[in-house]
Amino acid sequence: MTMTPDDSLARRSLASVWHPCTQMKRHEAEPPVAIAGAQGPWLYGTDGRRYLDGISSWWVNLFGHGHPHIQAALADQLARLDHVMLAGFTHAPVVELSERLAALTGLGHAFYGSDGAAATEIALKMSAHYWRNQGRPAKCRFVGLAGGYHGETVGALAVTDIPIFREAYAPLVRLGSVVPSPDARGAQPGESAADVARRAAAALGDWLAEHHATTAALILEPLVQCAAGMAMHDPEFLRQARALCDRYEVHLVADEIAVGFGRTGTMFAHQQAGIRPDFICLSKGLTGGTLPLSAVLTTDAVYAAFYDDDIARGFLHSHSYTGNPLACRAALATLELFESTGALAANVQRAAAIDAACAPLSRHPRVRHARRLGMVWAWDVETTLPDFARRYHRQALARGLLLRPIGNTLYAMPPYVLDDSEIDHLATQALAALEATLAEEPADHAAAHRPEKVVP
Ligand SMILES: *Cc1c(COP(=O)(O)O)cnc(C)c1O
Repeated sequence: MTMTPDDSLARRSLASVWHPCTQMKRHEAEPPVAIAGAQGPWLYGTDGRRYLDGISSWWVNLFGHGHPHIQAALADQLARLDHVMLAGFTHAPVVELSERLAALTGLGHAFYGSDGAAATEIALKMSAHYWRNQGRPAKCRFVGLAGGYHGETVGALAVTDIPIFREAYAPLVRLGSVVPSPDARGAQPGESAADVARRAAAALGDWLAEHHATTAALILEPLVQCAAGMAMHDPEFLRQARALCDRYEVHLVADEIAVGFGRTGTMFAHQQAGIRPDFICLSKGLTGGTLPLSAVLTTDAVYAAFYDDDIARGFLHSHSYTGNPLACRAALATLELFESTGALAANVQRAAAIDAACAPLSRHPRVRHARRLGMVWAWDVETTLPDFARRYHRQALARGLLLRPIGNTLYAMPPYVLDDSEIDHLATQALAALEATLAEEPADHAAAHRPEKVVP
């Protein structure tokens, strides 16, 4: 690919910026796309082209870019209080946000971090420290689901079961255990999604029966394991997991970092199972995609186990920017938008329109397991291309659309603002990009390789 003068930002970026989740050498052929601005669901390139943000900028953006309500809240907050340390101090945005999150979840104690992986770290540390404070220090190990993703810091990698993210760092990590995923695609002939869920829960039960004495917590992504390729499961699994955790005295950590804030149709995914987790991890959509912030919510019982005269029994986790007022204010403005726009109800209509527009994609002869939950769509593509994801991404960009398949799973996770013409653009260009990508398959199918390693 030849670079035009407009690509100078991309060129400078390659010289100085180490991009995430990327083999930098690949950018020799495909430079990063330089973005000058964004409005609503659109990203505007420095070259004047625009791209519909079909994956909400890595699942963070809920109400479109540059939303005036969030902007106004941030401008107001910036003029009042930019930041103050949260140890020994407090401020209105962090108090109000904690109260709102408590009212939404029933978990009344909020601890803040700056990103999703930090929320995982906080939840794991809090769970193990809880058991230690209870006089049961042996309960300090963790179990997660096959294909689970909970972030990539060294602690979070212990419970992230995606080999490519873990391989090189495995010697640094105290690996957790993995039990089978309730992924509904694993159904045997005649089995329903609920049957798969019950089978996976039985395996979890067997595992806990043996290991509960050394297990602090089960961590899972309720309803959709996003990084695994939008693997969806029946809420029955969550109900049974909750019952098993109660029976074996193991915490249940709901990692709602990707699925929280309306993504699966309810405000939080675990609510569809009618259960209450012991910990909820939130990030990504928490600030509507404007600023980094994460929160771990927990119960009175967990909180009480740390409440003591002895500082060593307190929860010790220090982050310079904990509870940053700007980020908390953005989160409050985002929660206000759920109310003022009636987003959850509006998304029911919007999702039906996207379903209808995407019907040709879902019916495509090379698509398997077309599926949707709330505002998450996924299609598994049968292809001989080992690098389907990269090729598809490029074809979609050429059509003014940002989609970034995970392996052979094409998915869309758009912000909650698409109008009819934007829905049409998403559906039409997603299908056109699929046809164009499949046209790149070698005529000789024997030349097919195994798929490339999977990154979101
Ligand atoms: C993205 C994600 C994380 C990690 O969040 P970061 O902010 O990227 O560290 C953790 N859990 C889930 C389910 C996620 O999707």
